[in-house]
Amino acid sequence: MKRVNDIVIHYVANPGSSAKANRDFFDSSQSSVSAHFVVGLKGEVIQCVPLNEQSSASNDRNPDTISIEVCHPKANGKFNSKTYGALIKLTAWLCDEFGLDEEDVIRHYDITGKDCPKYYVEHPDAWEKLKKDVKKAM
Ligand SMILES: [Zn+2]
Repeated sequence: MKRVNDIVIHYVANPGSSAKANRDFFDSSQSSVSAHFVVGLKGEVIQCVPLNEQSSASNDRNPDTISIEVCHPKANGKFNSKTYGALIKLTAWLCDEFGLDEEDVIRHYDITGKDCPKYYVEHPDAWEKLKKDVKKAM
């Protein structure tokens, strides 16, 4: 990647699955999808793709975005507090690293209209709060 313009947040859409299970799935031959990071239910962060390489998660925006897949306990897609805390820290660090701010943090939905990350598409107020929390953590 030449330049990172945005950070894209996704949800794994597989309630209760672990970060490692999702990483192993990206690695498997069944999957043509990959993300830079997966954030797990215990707040663990697994990096799957180096930051200078493209991931394959965000459609037309793969060439200029960092992608983060986030695990969630239930089908509604809401992140638990450990996962949320780790996501905020990771995202704030990436913003610092690439000279971005919280307005450069976007949802998969903002690129394609896909219902991802589900809870934060259905609850725009929760999405606005997430961006504010990233700003506070920077
Ligand atoms: Zn997505």
